[in-house]
Formats: sequence, C-alpha cells, structure tokens
Amino acid sequence: MATAIRLAIVGLGKIARDQHIPAIAGTEGIELAAIASRNASIDGIAHFATLDELLAAAPGIDAVALCTPPQVRHAQAAAALKAGKHVLLEKPPGATVSELPPLIAAARQTGRTLFATWHSRFASAVEPARTFLASREIKSVAVEWKEDVRVWHPGQAWIWEPGGLGVFDPGINALSILTRILPRPFFLTQAELSFPRNRAAPIAADLAFSDDTGLPIRAEFDWRQTGPQTWDIRVETDTGRLTLSSGGSRLEHDDRNLIDEKQAEYRGIYRRFVELIANGVSDVDLSPLVHVADAFMLGRRRDVEPFIED
Ligand code: NAP
Repeated sequence: MATAIRLAIVGLGKIARDQHIPAIAGTEGIELAAIASRNASIDGIAHFATLDELLAAAPGIDAVALCTPPQVRHAQAAAALKAGKHVLLEKPPGATVSELPPLIAAARQTGRTLFATWHSRFASAVEPARTFLASREIKSVAVEWKEDVRVWHPGQAWIWEPGGLGVFDPGINALSILTRILPRPFFLTQAELSFPRNRAAPIAADLAFSDDTGLPIRAEFDWRQTGPQTWDIRVETDTGRLTLSSGGSRLEHDDRNLIDEKQAEYRGIYRRFVELIANGVSDVDLSPLVHVADAFMLGRRRDVEPFIED
C-alpha cells in the first residue's frame, strides 16, 4: 500500500476541530502530521506557531489544509505551493476572485494539487438532485438560507470584516449547491444587501438571478433567524416540486421523501483530496465566489440596525 499523505492543518478553529480532524482520522491514505496554530495544539501532533515556521522546519509534510479565515488564505496557499505542498482550501477559496488564478498557475508549475473545497456539494442529496434536474424543465428556483449568527459564528470577528463575507459565508454554501445542480449557468440580476450600521459585512441579502432562458431564481440569506433554522432550496419543475432541505441532506419530490441522510461531508472532501493528489490534478471551481462578488458589485446597500453580539 502507498504511504499515507502527511497533512498539516493550518488554523485550529471551529471547522478544523469539528470536521477536519475526525474526517482525516476516518479517511484512508491521509494522516494528520502537524498543526500550525498561534493559540492551540493537539497532544502527540507536531506543533508550529505559524505556517512559515512549519515550512521552514520541513517535517516531511506533503500537504496543508488551510482552515484559516479567507482574508489570510492567499498568502498561506502561495507559500505552501512554493514549498512544494499540496493545498486544500476551506470555503470560500479566497477573499477576492482574482487572487485564485495565480494559485492555480502555481499549482500547475509545481505539479501540486490545489483543491478549493465546497463542503455542501458533498451533502447526500446534491448529486441525486443534479441527476433529477438534468432531464426536467425547470420553472423557478427559490433559496432560503436563514440561520442565527449568534449560534453558528460566536466571536468570529473576521467574518464581519471586509473579505469575511458576512451572511455570504453560509450563503455561498447554497450557491455552491445551486451551481452544481442547475443544468445551465446563471447570473445575478438584482441584489439588496443589509449592512448593520456598525459592521463592514452584510447580515442579510436578497438576490435575484436568471439564465439565458429567463429562469427566475430568488435567494434570501439572513443571519437574524432565531428558532428553527432554514437551509432550503425549492425547484419547481414540469414534473412537480423538488425540495432540498437541511443544507442538502434531505430531498423530496412533491411530498415524497427520496433521501434523508446526514452524510459526512468532510469524509467526502478528504476522499476527493486523496484522489486528486493520486491523479496529479487540481479542482478549483470559482463560480460560487463569482456570484458573491457580483452581489457586492451590483447590490444596493441598505443600512439596518447595529449588530451587538451579547
Ligand atoms: P474560526 O473558528 O474563527 O477559526 C479560524 C482559525 O484561523 C482561528 O482559530 C485561528 O487559528 C486562525 N486565524 C484567525 N485569524 C487569523 C489570522 N489573521 N491569521 C492567521 N490565522 C488566523 O473560523 P472557522 O469557523 O473554523 O472558519 C474557518 C474557515 O472555514 C472559514 O472560511 C469558514 O467559512 C470555513 N467553514 C466554517 C464552517 C463552520 O461551521 N464554522 C463550516 C464550513 C466552512 P489559530 O488561533 O489556531 O491560529
């Protein structure tokens, strides 16, 4: 058997602890060999304060998973590729669209894998929904992605800063599913972004998209939802309504339940990373990030009440 890929996690925050560490432990062909974190370590795993220190010490690391905020990801990815490491990027892949092509070029030049992950695409209902829609006439699409920011992003100052994306941090997950399941490319036609007066990123967004056939697509993202949380996509077709709910883990056709299965999305991500490295290829789809950039470009800004965390 080939030796396992020796991976380092950079940024030991919520997603690294909740998802990456268990997924790596459960995936054949890859193992956690080091951590770069300014504030935390794990017993028995080599620790470095920063990625630069890790790269300088070169402890036989093959790949890095960047679990840091998007604003610092480009510099880290560039340094890791330059040092000959394969790179896995958490979503969103960067703080701007234009910082990605140089990374794609660097990966090609160094013969390393660059993987821009979209974890929601690994939810169990996404591929079946794509297959279902491929042969249907689609009449309209409605997305509702509404959650409580205080529950899901406590204390995450970076998310409210420029490049942190605000409500598009979860909203881009819906866009990563839509860009996968709809058979044709679509584009933004109108947007209204609600910014708390004391914050640099939106707390809500109301978006309209269309495609070359005039398909109406609406998306509502909102971080002010308390009580039950909503991560739903409804698609009206010539043969009834397809509903993806719970972030892509449930699928219903009209009232018939087709799938209801919480799939380990990050296991899927790491299986794919191992496969990409074995095949010597990269996987970087920027389409969800392009839609978010369009929303910031075309969106009308609306000031709303300040957001105070406590
Ligand atoms: P987080 O809890 O704030 O963790 C991010 C980690 O990055 C921090 O713990 C810190 O690690 C490091 N970091 C923060 N600021 C930094 C800086 N200026 N320079 C270098 N390192 C810095 O955030 P998270 O929720 O894990 O999110 C990280 C990424 O994963 C985001 O892009 C997010 O969209 C994505 N993601 C999050 C979730 C989720 O449910 N939370 C789900 C899917 C994807 P150290 O203190 O260890 O250095």
